[in-house]
Amino acid sequence: MKNGGYSPSSKALGMGTGFNVHCLHCGYEEDFMEGKGMVVHEYSLKRYLEEEPFHVHRMTHRKIEQLARRYGHLRIDAEYRLLLCPHCHIPFSRLHITVFDRERIYHQTRFRCTHCERPLKEIATGNIENYRCPECLEKSLVVGLDVINWD
Ligand SMILES: [Zn+2]
Ligand SMILES: [Zn+2]
Repeated sequence: MKNGGYSPSSKALGMGTGFNVHCLHCGYEEDFMEGKGMVVHEYSLKRYLEEEPFHVHRMTHRKIEQLARRYGHLRIDAEYRLLLCPHCHIPFSRLHITVFDRERIYHQTRFRCTHCERPLKEIATGNIENYRCPECLEKSLVVGLDVINWD
């Protein structure tokens, strides 16, 4: 194939994916979402504020409003990312926001561990096995068999 390496994925169809994670010890369960979808993707900042297609933390929203007032041309992009606390080994799935133009990034979400407050690191898709449960802190998280399509 000419364009070797590229294969159409759910992302090409504008659909987000995810998977269910649960704890064998305490029964904690959560859907971890990844990537972008029909609603969670790039917009002009103006359109984002008019339609609010997806919700962000209210502090982030305030920041977006301030930036929109100062710079009319900015764009916003969003995607779900898998993150890990390197200290606690607790995984998280969070909506990551970037406000940018061609020159630079004006704002992006920085996540901290809910347990120890340290900065989180991005991790690879589906790489959750044997991480620590955010509820009971046992190393008993497993990934369910179901793949979730959201949007
Ligand atoms: Zn647990
Ligand atoms: Zn931590």
